[in-house]
Amino acid sequence: MTTPDEHHPDFARRGQAAYEAATRVFNLFAPVTPAAAVTARSTEEVRAAITRARARGLGVRVHATGHACATARPMRDALLIRTEPAGDVGIDPRRRIARIPAGTRWGAVVEAAAPHGLAAPHGSSPTVGAVGYLLGGGLSMYARHTGLAANSVRAIELVTADGEQRRVDADSDPELFWALRGGGGGFGVVTAVEIALFPVTGVVTGAAFWPAAQAARLLPRWRAWTERAPREATTSVRVMNLPELPEVPAVLSAGPVLCLDGVVVAPGGDATGRARRQAGELLDPLRALADPLMDTWHEAGPLAVPETHMDPPEPVPVLGDHLLLRELGDEGVAAFLHATVDRPHSALTVAELRQLGGGLSTPAPDSGALGHLDARFAYSGAGVPGAGGTDGEILAHCAEVRRALSPWDTGRTAPTFVASLEQPQGHLDADAVLAADRVRARVDPEGLFRGDIAPGCSAASAAGSAR
Ligand SMILES: Cc1cc2nc3c(=O)[nH]c(=O)nc-3n(C[C@H](O)[C@H](O)[C@H](O)COP(=O)(O)OP(=O)(O)OC[C@H]3O[C@@H](n4cnc5c(N)ncnc54)[C@H](O)[C@@H]3O)c2cc1C
Repeated sequence: MTTPDEHHPDFARRGQAAYEAATRVFNLFAPVTPAAAVTARSTEEVRAAITRARARGLGVRVHATGHACATARPMRDALLIRTEPAGDVGIDPRRRIARIPAGTRWGAVVEAAAPHGLAAPHGSSPTVGAVGYLLGGGLSMYARHTGLAANSVRAIELVTADGEQRRVDADSDPELFWALRGGGGGFGVVTAVEIALFPVTGVVTGAAFWPAAQAARLLPRWRAWTERAPREATTSVRVMNLPELPEVPAVLSAGPVLCLDGVVVAPGGDATGRARRQAGELLDPLRALADPLMDTWHEAGPLAVPETHMDPPEPVPVLGDHLLLRELGDEGVAAFLHATVDRPHSALTVAELRQLGGGLSTPAPDSGALGHLDARFAYSGAGVPGAGGTDGEILAHCAEVRRALSPWDTGRTAPTFVASLEQPQGHLDADAVLAADRVRARVDPEGLFRGDIAPGCSAASAAGSAR
């Protein structure tokens, strides 16, 4: 039996290599500058770090990859714990369960599950961390088939403010288990999660690109298809202004393009033929309307899906915005196109509409604080400062798209899509906010983790949470 003191990793201060390593973030536009930082590679190291933060009067913050750093509150009076996986992803193929140590990125989960004919509810990027994504709901590449990824969580291991290591599930602590899944953070440092995987015999996945000038013909067709699309299909359309880079095919950086990508899943048995037909019903009419510049849709296994959306693997500076939208109809599609395509210059590298509905729209019976999304599309827009435009130009274009889409704005948000600290989370109703606060008051009465509560997720002021 070890005590936390035997394991306390030294706190690193600004300028030290260990500080730079622990504060590395994906979004270079939003560096984090905590009072001290530490990389924890085991539950013991997490406990030791919490103990020392308390002793020094620091708050505690936690991250893994920094994909969400633009939504993190300032950390100047806090210790930042960066989690590194303590071991590999464990798969129980019989129960279809994965145990994922904190710090693990989705790519590793997909690779561990695939040999068993199983898939995980990961998002568009294999380098996103599993824990942050799951705690925020998680909008998967398979989202319409699986529902929100948080609904697949079966147990969460965490260290709470008192230094206790807990394993929380629906039986052991239903309230904390509820709050952890979408309740807005601030409950402790998660050290591992267990999730349910799902069987997959194959997928049809890929991306097709057309000149953006064709978008006015193609996008209404796609929108109409979303009204009757099968749950096995989850897609996204993006207006993209791609830079000239060695990894970007020249045909895609020559001008603005429209991209349609996604996954049609064959969930088991002999469903591959059906998935092929379903993908054809979406793609063939669009291919007939206009020849794609590039078309990578193909039959594959789940290992191919993390590459479909072609998210940047390396850190980049990003400024963006997000809305959850109701049904757009043709008028909403026209408004989106007017604000993104019909203009001489775009400061947005990407303006995306992700298809919701299907399994996402049904409240799951045993879900956490966030179990479904009552919206038809998730909009996100993003620009790369210095590449597509200045900060001001990107923000102005974001505001313009927001104004154009305002008639269809639900006023809600998907936590993992919120792009900045200035845009509070809007996924919880008032009762849920109060219920999450009650759980926090129980597990963190002194507010050690209060700086980690996402704006809009607590009725109590998180002021003083410059921690
Ligand atoms: C390129 C890109 C693609 C993306 N694609 C998708 C997508 O398809 N679907 C989707 O839903 N989202 C997507 N996201 C958003 C992503 O899911 C969120 O940013 C998510 O929060 C990232 O989790 P992380 O742990 O990697 O990030 P981090 O920034 O490291 O952590 C984010 C937050 O999670 C919490 N957290 C992390 N680790 C722990 C822990 N061990 N204990 C307690 N709390 C913890 C903390 O509150 C932390 O502030 C994408 C983001 C990017 C940049």
